[in-house]
Amino acid sequence: MNNILLEKHVNTNGSSNIELKKIFQKNQIIEYLYRIGPTSNPEIARYTKMSSPTITKLLQELIDLDIVMDMGIGESIGGRKPNLFGINPNARYVIGIDIDCRMVKLGIFNLANDAVSEIITYFGNVKNKNEMFIELFSQLDKLLATANLDPEKFLGIGVSIPGLINSKTGQTYLDLRIDNQTLPEVFQEKYHLPTVIDSDSRVMAIGEQAFGFAKNKKDVLCLNICDGVGLGMILNGIVYRGKSGLAGEFGHINVVKDGNLCTCGKYGCLETVASGGALIEQAQQGIKKGQESIIKEMVKGNLDDIHVADIIEAVNTGDVFAIEIINKLGHFLGEALASLVHIFNPEMIIVGGKVALAGDYLINPIHNTLNKYTISHIKKDTELVTSFLQDKVKLLGSVAMVMNQVFDESVEEMKFL
Ligand SMILES: [Zn+2]
Repeated sequence: MNNILLEKHVNTNGSSNIELKKIFQKNQIIEYLYRIGPTSNPEIARYTKMSSPTITKLLQELIDLDIVMDMGIGESIGGRKPNLFGINPNARYVIGIDIDCRMVKLGIFNLANDAVSEIITYFGNVKNKNEMFIELFSQLDKLLATANLDPEKFLGIGVSIPGLINSKTGQTYLDLRIDNQTLPEVFQEKYHLPTVIDSDSRVMAIGEQAFGFAKNKKDVLCLNICDGVGLGMILNGIVYRGKSGLAGEFGHINVVKDGNLCTCGKYGCLETVASGGALIEQAQQGIKKGQESIIKEMVKGNLDDIHVADIIEAVNTGDVFAIEIINKLGHFLGEALASLVHIFNPEMIIVGGKVALAGDYLINPIHNTLNKYTISHIKKDTELVTSFLQDKVKLLGSVAMVMNQVFDESVEEMKFL
């Protein structure tokens, strides 16, 4: 949004004409209203450095386009009461898709980041890609048909997916592709909408940054504990991706010498002892060895039927065995996190993912272990919390991911105007 970007934008589009400059300025106003909410002409001028008459003119053009609304007179903070302008929430829409290892969620959101459709949730298996695509397209078709919104108003599709992923190229470790097309290409071709994808842990970080505890914070680590363990890193206010877009594979650092085989093919990874998958395995093994637990009754003796949600429910009812295995998981996470605290000096660590629903039963052992292994001068500045966005964070993050692209002047594919 600075002058260098403006010059680049103007130059790459051929002639440096007034129309292009106006589009750039209008996008600046739209972004400000989207992020800040209803505000006045002088406030917009302070942010955009445009003159008040220019803003008045552009606001009127945006009102004529039904993108901005005149909200009337607001409260005064001294002096004359200001006239407020806000974004029309239904001027544009975004499709958010959260593909988990087992669950898929999708919905349509407006510019107030509110769902304007039903949020469809269903069991899906990413390991069977053909079935997954057929089901996903059918659900999305159903969603779009029911919502019946103007197709011209859609900005794009944001997709959160598990596993290794290069968000720049769209390459995924799970090989989610059809006829050599990457996932964004598949969506683009079928729905004629620009599509952006990223790994679930990074989408979690984007969601926390836009709507959660990471808002207005610069250095935050987002731990995503689902079937595996992932890490979304916000460093100096930017979601970090690494050279190949593969950063954050925290679950695959080695923590157990000669440990169990991991899904990645290595041995003794953090994921083998401190993930949803590891938790289920420990519950199954303990109960098989005769450990008393309410979990056994919950799954009617069928140990293959144990899900993380059952273990969390057992923890919350005070089941001693369930509390013990969560406690052990927390200690392993705490030990590994201690290294990250020393390296990054984060202001906050947000623990999310379905295992985080154990709340204090998980946070307390992580906290105690961090205290044990971290230099207190570094640790004292790090807040440890569970995500209040819980299971909504990745769906909201996929929407935020689209909006970040829309307002990123270097991205040509997604534009508001
Ligand atoms: Zn591994």
